[in-house]
Amino acid sequence: MNAPELSGEMIIRGGTILTMDDAATVWDDAAIHIRNGVIVDIGPSHTIKAHETGCRTVDAHGCAILPGFVNAHTHLAMTLFRGIADDVHLQDFLRRVVAEESETLSPQRVYTGALNACYESLLAGTTDALDMYWFPHEAVSAGRDAGLRVHAGEAFANFPTPEHTSVETKLDSLNAADRRVPWLMPHSVYALTEDQLSRIAASAQELGARIHVHAAENEGELATVRAQHGTTPIEVLHRTGLLSSRTVIAHAVHLTDNDISLIAEAGASVAHCPWSNLKLASGIAPVRALLDAGVRVCLGTDGAVSSNTLDMWTTMRLAAVLHKWRDHDPASIGSRAVLAMATRHGAEALGIPGGGVLAPGMPATLQIVDLSGPHHSGVGDIWSQLVYSTHPGDVRDVIISGVSVVADKKVVSEDVRRPALAQ
Ligand SMILES: [Zn+2]
Repeated sequence: MNAPELSGEMIIRGGTILTMDDAATVWDDAAIHIRNGVIVDIGPSHTIKAHETGCRTVDAHGCAILPGFVNAHTHLAMTLFRGIADDVHLQDFLRRVVAEESETLSPQRVYTGALNACYESLLAGTTDALDMYWFPHEAVSAGRDAGLRVHAGEAFANFPTPEHTSVETKLDSLNAADRRVPWLMPHSVYALTEDQLSRIAASAQELGARIHVHAAENEGELATVRAQHGTTPIEVLHRTGLLSSRTVIAHAVHLTDNDISLIAEAGASVAHCPWSNLKLASGIAPVRALLDAGVRVCLGTDGAVSSNTLDMWTTMRLAAVLHKWRDHDPASIGSRAVLAMATRHGAEALGIPGGGVLAPGMPATLQIVDLSGPHHSGVGDIWSQLVYSTHPGDVRDVIISGVSVVADKKVVSEDVRRPALAQ
């Protein structure tokens, strides 16, 4: 990416900062002093005075400044197929999508779809995406070109894929590579044999990889897994060694009490995907119970076929309102909780060093959100304003480790031309 480095020093001055630290600190009329991509000072504006000569100043009056979103479950290149499988159950959805993918996808098309997804994500305040898809190096390349941090790895499934490479071949080549691998992504328990799942777990251990997997998404899956493996998807993950503190489970909608205990004991994270789960009528994840058990819950959009948008604002809003209804309690999941899920907890789940919190010594990875629109009128609580009133078009600037990737509502990497999608 050729996005310009910010000058060695910059100060963002005048906005309301949500640090997302342990105390949920908020400062009005605040400032952040950044040097070489790292926050060196942050606090009320009058306390941040130093080094302004020769330092770029960004005016953030009327804005909120908060960490960038971490989309903890998506399939970026599925923007190619947006709208092909709406208003159907998961199993019909998978049949249509798998057929389309295996017939039409090439590495170049994956790059194209992922690049558009990167633009869509960045413009909505997302700085990091955990992407499970075929030809994963293409999404990583697209992310590098657009400016989004894409966290990806080899995906495994026995159903037909556009890679036309067997699970066994992939595992053999991984083990021969003699290198560290950031992520391994078994698609699901139902798409693999128990022996394959165990081998992926062993490879992850050997290669230092994190695990990302779909599990317990809908009732059809539960029946399939019980027929195949005799138990629940979470118990299969546990007994094959795939459940650990380095595991991010997408969905986790249908869980037994024992499943929740296993996830909590392993220290695994759950990527809650409310939009996708509602649209596919999969169900509503027991997020309150997971949180009460001490499980780290983060948020994902899922791919643009199941959710139609990679917008974390809508994802947050749905998460905030859905559990009020599910739990018959308007206080069940509040705006502070979902903002933490979308930022800090996502960064922790993905193992992003210093991610998701704005504090001295942490990378300057943040978004500046314009709160001047008429839909922001009123004097309510800033957390509520962000979760219940804000939309992606309000994101003005996005900065990743001190590099400006969105400026004044435009993606900075103008050298990469947004490709027209081949239909
Ligand atoms: Zn998914």
